[in-house]
Parts: sequence; structure tokens; C-alpha cells
Amino acid sequence: MTAVEDTVLALVVRGHREHSLERVPRPVPGPGEALVAVTHVAVCGTDLRLLRGTLHDAEYPVVPGHEWAGRVLEAPSRPELVGRAVVGEGITPCRACARCAEGKFNLCLDLDEVGFTRAGAFAEAFTLPAANLRPLPEGLSGAEGCLLEPLCVALHAVERAPAVAGRDVGVIGAGAVGLLVAQLALAGGAASVTVAEPSAHRRGIAAELGVGSVDSLAEWAGDTQPDLVFDATGVAAVFPQGIQATRPGGDYVLVGYSGEESAHVEPSTIMLREISVHGVLSGFDQIDRAIEVVTSGAVRLGPLLGQALPIADYRVLLDESGVPPLRSVFVTDHA
Ligand SMILES: [Zn+2]
Ligand SMILES: [Zn+2]
Repeated sequence: MTAVEDTVLALVVRGHREHSLERVPRPVPGPGEALVAVTHVAVCGTDLRLLRGTLHDAEYPVVPGHEWAGRVLEAPSRPELVGRAVVGEGITPCRACARCAEGKFNLCLDLDEVGFTRAGAFAEAFTLPAANLRPLPEGLSGAEGCLLEPLCVALHAVERAPAVAGRDVGVIGAGAVGLLVAQLALAGGAASVTVAEPSAHRRGIAAELGVGSVDSLAEWAGDTQPDLVFDATGVAAVFPQGIQATRPGGDYVLVGYSGEESAHVEPSTIMLREISVHGVLSGFDQIDRAIEVVTSGAVRLGPLLGQALPIADYRVLLDESGVPPLRSVFVTDHA
């Protein structure tokens, strides 16, 4: 895209299972905003729900894409960033509502979120508040830069759990967020970290990251039960099984989004065993910390990435056969 073109290619979701790549008017940055040319955009489970029509509170039309890296085209309030490779914080709280007043910014009642309430990065260019931008750290590829957003979620998940140091940590689901949480738990001094994951391919990636694994929750029985469990599956039916696989007195952290699915749970399995359950929505104000844990080497992103494809090929995401890559990354002509 050159400065003179007045349209950009964007993936537009217009309604339930209604989506296509379209040329849309070139976004114009508002006051305090920047225009970013997208180089890389990754797709997570929430984006897939949006495309498959199972994101229950989707607002249409919407351009998805909240895991991205790009290059700044315009930023009147931060001119030093123009031309630089950047990543950024996707959510912007209102700072005026009751939740914001409590400091719970990711629960803001009027949250502005790239790829949900405002046009996202599955496009040749998009806008966001310039204050949210950070230079892409040296030594990090654009594809890796996309994973800083899920890393912010993983950081918040670990923050929501009582301290990980010295605990036996279990992670259910070796997807990207699960393997990011597992790496953070190792770095945080957990006594042990084990992922439960049926896919041998994904268990192999866990092993590459130094994380042990089991192929089924049934392996967590008796003395081997972890006392701090992160459920990163986003599958409602896992919840009652995961609770049963958690050591009595332990903590259960729900970090996967399961839409409107429900599961049959006996509350007494939580009450009798004194399990504490914690919900995790999204990270906020974690981008600098995310950059720090990656540049320090505490967390590795490369093994979580699939092969990058052109954005025109986005429909491969809808293929439900086989085990999908942990993170599918798409590149634009700017990459
Ligand atoms: Zn995501
Ligand atoms: Zn607010």
C-alpha cells in the first residue's frame, strides 16, 4: 500500500459465517491514533469462533485480528515511530467506568478492543491509539511479535493464580496459550510443570520447550495431581474433568474461552475438595513485561508458530481436519 491508495484489503466478517477479503476505505487515524501497515497477523481460537459463527457476543461488521506486527505509516502524536516495526497493546480501557475506577481495566464496561470493538489487523492497515505501540524488539521476527498478545494473556493468567513458585503446575491443553503459561510457570520456579494434551505432535513441541506432558487427564490421579491447574482448552466439557484432576485444596485457572458451551458440574466436587476457581479474561498493561520475558529468553515463541501464509489464503483456517498449527500466521505484501 502506498500513501496514495485510498483502499486497503481487509478480512470483513459481516455476520454469522459471512466473511470475505474486501477492499475497504483506507482507515484514517483519529486524534492520538496511529495508522499501522500490517506485516504479520496471527489467528487464535477466538478469531476462529468469529469466522465459524460461535463467538456469542460478536458485533458485526468487524475486521478481526488482535495478534499482529506491523510498520507505522502515520503517527502525528508519536512521529519518532513512523517507519518503525511495531507491536502493541490491543485493548484500551475507558478509564472512567466503575471497573476502571477499581483498577480492573480489562473488565472495563466500555472497553475498546482491536479486532472486536474496532477494526483489527487482519488487513493491510489499521488504526489504534499511538500510545499503545511499542517498537518490535530487536531479534524478534514479525511472526513472533504476533505472539506477544497471547503472552500478555498468559502473564495475566499466571498473575491471577496464587504464586507458582514451588507448586506442581498442570496445564490442560498444549495450544499456544497453554505452552506460554507452562513456560512462565517454569520460569516462575514451579516445582514441576506438566501439560495434558492428546496430540503427540503438540506434546513434542512441549518437550522441545522443556515441558513434560501426559496424554490424558486420567494420568493425574492420587499423588500425581497438580495443585495449580491452568485450563487453556476453551472446551467446556474439560472443566468438570479438570476439577477432578486437581489436587484437593488446589487452584484451577480458566484461561480458555468456551463460548456458550456448557458442562455438567457437581458443585460439591469444588466444595468438598476446596478447589479455588479463577477466571482470566485478557491481559492488560502487560506488553512491556511480555517483551521483557521474551528478550530475556525465559519464554520462547518460535516453536509455537506455523508456516506463514498470505492473507488471501485465510480460508485454510476453516479446514477442521487434522491438528491445526498452534498459531497460524498470515503475511501481507508489506512483510
Ligand atoms: Zn487471541
Ligand atoms: Zn472503563
